[in-house]
Amino acid sequence: SKDGGRNRHTFYEARMEEERRARQVLGVDLRNALRAGDLHVHFQPVADVGTGSLLGFEALARWTHPERGVVPPGLFIPVAEESGAIVDLGEWMLETVCQEATRWPLACTVAVNISVMQFEKSDLVAQVDGVLERTGLDPARLELEITESVLIHDTDYAVEVLNRLKARGVRIVLDDFGTGYSSLSYLKRFPFDKIKIDRSFVSEIGDSQQSAAIVRGVIGLARGLGVPVVAEGVEQAAHVDMLREEGCDQMQGYLIGRPAPIEDYGDLVFDHPMA
Ligand code: C2E
Ligand code: CA
Ligand code: CA
Ligand code: CA
Repeated sequence: SKDGGRNRHTFYEARMEEERRARQVLGVDLRNALRAGDLHVHFQPVADVGTGSLLGFEALARWTHPERGVVPPGLFIPVAEESGAIVDLGEWMLETVCQEATRWPLACTVAVNISVMQFEKSDLVAQVDGVLERTGLDPARLELEITESVLIHDTDYAVEVLNRLKARGVRIVLDDFGTGYSSLSYLKRFPFDKIKIDRSFVSEIGDSQQSAAIVRGVIGLARGLGVPVVAEGVEQAAHVDMLREEGCDQMQGYLIGRPAPIEDYGDLVFDHPMA
């Protein structure tokens, strides 16, 4: 009936309102978490496909909520973007990760994820400059992972920011390649230092001919452009075999190592002669 339809509509709207409020609360909690020190960083190793040797780590934000326990980044990063807290969170990540990397005897690379909002709502170049100056980290060790969405809104502005960062010696990585509003023209507009194939394709190499074809295609494309390519979501030995055959440069995934506190990789990072 008409009435039933209206009730369902109202019910739906009430749920939406409830969800919106819950996200608002989470956004406030997140700001407190930054101050309270409830955020920490996990590191996931990146390895050379040919030799299996460690090349560096990707830093991933972790939040332990005092009541809710561990909140996954898939939930709190969008909330941080909505509430604007991502600007502070992003700066905290950069500072913490660069500081941490300067403690390591092993001079490997460290990658930090940069959200679209950090481009639009903050002076990212000044942020990076400040962090590099305060920590003294060699810029060549820092990789900034950005997604294509950064380039959608104002490509000219984004390209200018990326070029200024690149001029500092920082490396720019195109993350989640193949998802989102992929446009190959972005690869022409900006000289990325690395392309990262999204894990949704890599994890399906053995099960989906389409995904395997996409992985092969992206590796071929990157090689043709002379850009190093990294596969994420490597979970099986068969994935490594295929990536090696196709000439993929780097890999990351649960098979190589899960995101974890850096101490868990202490034997690789700390029991190492000065590089
Ligand atoms: P991402 O940048 O694509 O990071 C890779 C995600 O895949 C991580 O999830 C990682 O734990 C997961 N992963 C890595 N290897 C495997 C594997 O072999 N199998 C499976 N099933 N998963 C694997 P995580 O840590 O939950 O992060 C999710 C997303 O949240 C990240 O995706 C990134 O977009 C965002 N994120 C995390 N930390 C930050 C941050 O500090 N800043 C920003 N802006 N975004 C962040
Ligand atoms: Ca990433
Ligand atoms: Ca991804
Ligand atoms: Ca991502």
